[in-house]
Amino acid sequence: METIKSLQDIREYFNSGNTQTYQFRKEQLLQLKSALIRHEQDLYNALYHDLKKSPEECWVTENGMVLSELNYALKKLKGWMASDSVSTNLLNLPSSSKIMKEPLGVVLIIGPWNYPLQLLFNPLIGAIAAGNCVVLKPSEFAPATAAIMKKIIEETFATVFVLYVEGDGGKVIPEMMNDFTFDHVFYTGSTAVGKIIYKMAAENLVPVTLELGGKSPCVVESDANIKVAARRIAMTKFSNCGQMCVAPDYVLVHESQQAALVTELKKSILDFFGDKPEESYSYGKIINEKQFNRIVQYLEQGTIAYGGRTNKEQLFIEPTILENVQLNATIMQEEIFGPVLPIIVFNNKAAAMKIIRQHQNPLAFYVFTSSSEKEKDWLESVAFGGSCVNNASWHLTNHNLPFGGRGFSGTGSYHGKFSFDTFSHKKSVMKTPTWFDPSIKYPPFKGKLNLFKKVI
Ligand code: NAD
Repeated sequence: METIKSLQDIREYFNSGNTQTYQFRKEQLLQLKSALIRHEQDLYNALYHDLKKSPEECWVTENGMVLSELNYALKKLKGWMASDSVSTNLLNLPSSSKIMKEPLGVVLIIGPWNYPLQLLFNPLIGAIAAGNCVVLKPSEFAPATAAIMKKIIEETFATVFVLYVEGDGGKVIPEMMNDFTFDHVFYTGSTAVGKIIYKMAAENLVPVTLELGGKSPCVVESDANIKVAARRIAMTKFSNCGQMCVAPDYVLVHESQQAALVTELKKSILDFFGDKPEESYSYGKIINEKQFNRIVQYLEQGTIAYGGRTNKEQLFIEPTILENVQLNATIMQEEIFGPVLPIIVFNNKAAAMKIIRQHQNPLAFYVFTSSSEKEKDWLESVAFGGSCVNNASWHLTNHNLPFGGRGFSGTGSYHGKFSFDTFSHKKSVMKTPTWFDPSIKYPPFKGKLNLFKKVI
């Protein structure tokens, strides 16, 4: 099979050691940067075609975000690559100790369709910075963007360094993973497919990073600034039509604020997208008919407080607020991943926690409150991947915060230095001088117990 031959060539190239120098990594990152800049307009056209994203939205969530990650990696690369000296314990003195950073080898990066560029290229930056060879597998559901990404990768990198593999993930990924042992698999996508990837990787003890989804709750407390909360929730929930892994999946609002929140959410939606969001420059579309059909079913699972209009031909679903949703309805069992926002009322924290605990380990958790006690209490109570207080989703744009889930929402993390670490092995090295070699360290040990107790 042609791909397997290419994978063997990549392995050989990695073994040559070429990818490991600072100069090589820097050069590759710089070339990627110029290709992204050169193809800026192509990317806008493609992302508009696939998801109706405006150039402004693309800049913030796709190409601009990738360039920002790239510039940060270029700035920090030398420091990241340097070995870290660490202190040595008494037993081993006068040895010295250090941690070397070694590339993992040939890594497979698998992307989803919702942020097709960012979620494939941001891990790529970490993998290149760490000195690996890479196989990139985009989602088949954002084909226009996939075509431009292919062009960028093939213009920029030798195929023995970065190989771009397209096709139905359910077919090409098992084909590759059955016949080739990657050194790491970095997967972004649904929890269901994440489990399949994890099992395939386990067969050969291949380590994985899993960036998965789930239901991310958003709590609005009785003392929240409701106007600000509504704007920030609406902005994140309806960006990319809710097709965002860290979108607030549902809102848990304190009963005293329910009416005010719904009023402010309606105002925010109107302010952002007007009364015809299908014509709005700032409102996207659903990726395909399959996703459209899935999301449309949710509209019948509550009372529509706002929105609810759809158009299958345009793959349009209006930003929608749902009230009176039953907790056993499918909308409260599955990740919504669309522009439908259930508003659920709580009157005490224990009741809200019971709802949150129906779904283990949310990828994100948001709380809107003006009380630092409540903030602390919520942050300590929920086992989430990442969080914002009085905001939603923006934590993932800070390079200094690791981005990732836990358990059902994922394993491992990335962004900034955390990406470099994800794609590096930390090699422990202790160096012991030969000029000092006391006989106490060697057998016979009889009679040395008290001394050993002192030094160990
Ligand atoms: P998906 O799991 O359907 O597909 C993701 C990738 O897996 C694609 O490249 C696809 O080709 C491949 N794939 C599909 N079936 C496969 C199989 N049987 N075996 C091997 N590979 C297979 O996910 P999606 O629909 O593209 O993305 C939506 C999901 O991703 C949501 O659950 C969302 O929350 C999650 N997501 C998570 C993050 C994150 O950073 N944690 C980001 C974006 C999306």
